[in-house]
Amino acid sequence: MIPRQARESLGRAWCALLEEKTGVPHQIVPNPGSEEARAQGCLCPVIDNGRGEGMMGGEAKHPVSGLPVFTINLLCPLHGNSDWLDLEET
Ligand SMILES: [Zn+2]
Repeated sequence: MIPRQARESLGRAWCALLEEKTGVPHQIVPNPGSEEARAQGCLCPVIDNGRGEGMMGGEAKHPVSGLPVFTINLLCPLHGNSDWLDLEET
């Protein structure tokens, strides 16, 4: 388990590297359902995501990565991807 602070500084280093390589600004996307994400227009569930900690308050872990699991609203502008929605063309 990587401490949150180390993860965040790794994230920032990764963003800086991408920014340097591509010339496009990159930023760490705040966790789904967190206050910070909601301030940026996140539409993901708040309670289901433990207010940004993850499902079951961060206790639910991905079986391989061991990282917290989140519920994503596919229409969320920060975390979603509407390409994954199986909608009929009208
Ligand atoms: Zn979201």
